[in-house]
Amino acid sequence: MAPISRADLSTNIGLNRSTISSIIQQLMDLHFVQETRLQEDRIGRPAMPLELNPHAGFAIGLEINVDYVTSIMFDFCGNSHRKLHQATNGRMNQHEVLMIAIQMTSELCEFGRDRGYPLFGIGIGLPGLVDPYQGKLVFAQNIGWRNLEIGKIFFTQFNVPILVENEANCCALAEFRYGTAKELSDFIYLSSNAGVGAGILINGELFRGSEGFAGEIGHMVINEEGNLCSCGRKGCWETYVAPQEVVKGVQQELSKGVESRLNEIAGDNRESLTFQQVVDAAHEGDTIAQKAILDLGSHLGTGILNLVHIFNPAQIVLGGAFGESNNLLIPQIKTLMEELVRVRPARTVSIVPSSLGLDACMMGAATLVIDQVVRDPLNWLH
Ligand SMILES: [Zn+2]
Repeated sequence: MAPISRADLSTNIGLNRSTISSIIQQLMDLHFVQETRLQEDRIGRPAMPLELNPHAGFAIGLEINVDYVTSIMFDFCGNSHRKLHQATNGRMNQHEVLMIAIQMTSELCEFGRDRGYPLFGIGIGLPGLVDPYQGKLVFAQNIGWRNLEIGKIFFTQFNVPILVENEANCCALAEFRYGTAKELSDFIYLSSNAGVGAGILINGELFRGSEGFAGEIGHMVINEEGNLCSCGRKGCWETYVAPQEVVKGVQQELSKGVESRLNEIAGDNRESLTFQQVVDAAHEGDTIAQKAILDLGSHLGTGILNLVHIFNPAQIVLGGAFGESNNLLIPQIKTLMEELVRVRPARTVSIVPSSLGLDACMMGAATLVIDQVVRDPLNWLH
């Protein structure tokens, strides 16, 4: 954020100079705002522009996902000071994973406090249904967690505000502030891990819905007679586009005895085949893998078209596994959309890969905290 003078603040906000000066003094006393070097204003008078003080405090962003825990420390200006990452695995129970997350958070707290920064709060991004209003993970199928009061657990440990949010929402917020959707007020981030979800930005704000569960687009039905979904219905979008569903389709093809490089890659253990291996084989020209990725692109295009018609976003950001295979997927999605629809929203939306990759969720989680402080700085530290 560029430095700004008191006079310009007064003009931009529409409050008089003395009110602005009084508010600024309060913010300076709390170290949220500082004066920068002396400059001349537009008519040549000396002016002392103001800027946010990066050392006002720090926020920690944490992501707990299927096979890793990762965290970041942001200063008040959103600069990253430290990142930590630790792999987890399906054999670990909930307590063990939470201990890793708490240990990691403690390490970042110590790092910040050693430098004299107060801790504003901790943001936590989680896969699955998250109730941000209660700070609770309701259900995360891919890690098998249910009804976890994670906000309370972290508050007991760290005694600072804890903000809990769905992973796709965190990613969307990070792409909006620091990534490919910077300053686009209406866009959709598509997340693809075990399932498929969306972070929806409307008018520069996350759209959470009445209970915080908006964006569960993996369960949008695209074929009423389709495959059975884990939610109990048939033909949900994620039964066609979730990475493990794509792998399942490939495994079925291989079981028919077709020729494919994937037979060598998987060896005797076809069950261990990964989405990334399918993508790599498609890049190398393997016909079975290419067909799987082309089909994925078409199915993605069908669902994206539905979203485009509902929300008219400026951009669709492909995250997670979709982002990593974007150079194969995006042309296919665009082809499908051009073939199917000739209406304006489908023609004008841009489809791009995430620019933040695996960092997006923890960056967004830390940003949730910074945003809350900025909204109400005088009350935050009370
Ligand atoms: Zn479903």
